[in-house]
Amino acid sequence: MKKQRSSSPEPMLSIVIPVHNEAEVLPALLARLWTTGQKLDGSFELLFVDDGSRDDSVAILMAARQRQPEIRVLQLSRNFGKEAAVSAGLEHARGEAVVLMDADLQDPPELIPDMLAEWRKGADVVLMKRRSRAGESWLKRITASLFYRLINRISDSPIPVDTGDFRLMSRRTVEALNRLPERNRYLKGMFAWVGMPTVTLEFDRDPRIAGSTKWNYLKLVHLAMEGITSFSTRPLRLALVLGLLAAGAGGTVGLWEVIRALAFGISTPGYASLIAMITFLSGVQLLCVGLLGEYIGRIYMETKQRPVFIVAEDSQETMTYIQPML
Ligand code: UDP
Ligand code: MG
Repeated sequence: MKKQRSSSPEPMLSIVIPVHNEAEVLPALLARLWTTGQKLDGSFELLFVDDGSRDDSVAILMAARQRQPEIRVLQLSRNFGKEAAVSAGLEHARGEAVVLMDADLQDPPELIPDMLAEWRKGADVVLMKRRSRAGESWLKRITASLFYRLINRISDSPIPVDTGDFRLMSRRTVEALNRLPERNRYLKGMFAWVGMPTVTLEFDRDPRIAGSTKWNYLKLVHLAMEGITSFSTRPLRLALVLGLLAAGAGGTVGLWEVIRALAFGISTPGYASLIAMITFLSGVQLLCVGLLGEYIGRIYMETKQRPVFIVAEDSQETMTYIQPML
């Protein structure tokens, strides 16, 4: 899948940043990346993946690119979601090491030299663990913590708690990720599945400096469902067990009613328990059918084999076209 890019030599580091309507923060981000870039002892590229922004994000990046040739802008054809944008970035990054960070400066770029130092010492993955989650509502913190607890209980490859996507990965780790073919991309789970020697550093997560979060609870529920179903078939088994238990309980109660009727004659009461039984059982059935549906839906999406993202414009390639073979 790797395309030949002869325009410039491979940089030491790629910094991959998904961008969706971040015009308000981009100037500050670019300034801080610039300062950090000065301190790096090697070549780097800033790979911005524009995930269908409808504000001035692309214009700001393109303007900055005039001053800073390290900037590369990959424009997706529409909004595909952060996971797809990151996948696009990882596939196009050329660096020996790749740092993944959010555009909203919740992940301080000043930590990149420390991450590089760990990579030089031999780590394949440098995970950034949040010591605090400043500026996030208590509801988000509680739901996030519950989600991690749930997913780590049922998933086959546990996800480290309190780590986001802010991380450094070695070339071979990125290649391994790029080889994962699934369409439903639940990155946190995929990172965990790939594994590799990992070092964890702690940092204080800053609040988003401007603009607003691009997540809403519906998206988070979707992500959670993705996380659960793409990394475990245990919920299917749970449905089976639940169904068996319910059916067993229903059968026992039914048998008991028959015996009682034979012994003491028909009793009119029991209507309420009958209704309760029926609703309970149909509830269990619907639950199991729904669960199956979740998996079947995913099988359907996978069999379509659609690409995860579509790149509409790649500043790198425009560049090679304008200045052929200098
Ligand atoms: N993002 C994206 N596509 C989307 C939503 C978000 O590329 O559909 C990017 C966004 O620009 C940011 C990162 O993903 O760089 C994290 O988004 P956000 O800060 O809104 O999420 P939160 O930090 O609140 O989880
Ligand atoms: Mg954020």
